[in-house]
Amino acid sequence: MDTDEPPEPEPQPQRWRCCHCGGTGVDSYGDTCRHCDGLGFC
Ligand SMILES: [Zn+2]
Ligand SMILES: [Zn+2]
Repeated sequence: MDTDEPPEPEPQPQRWRCCHCGGTGVDSYGDTCRHCDGLGFC
């Protein structure tokens, strides 16, 4: 049995910059972005 197959690329978890805070994790009021919980991604 020949197992010389190319390894499948593992799907990377996609993280998108938060649409609310723009990735800063802080909203326009200076508070933790409720949309992403301060992570900057959602
Ligand atoms: Zn968002
Ligand atoms: Zn956010």
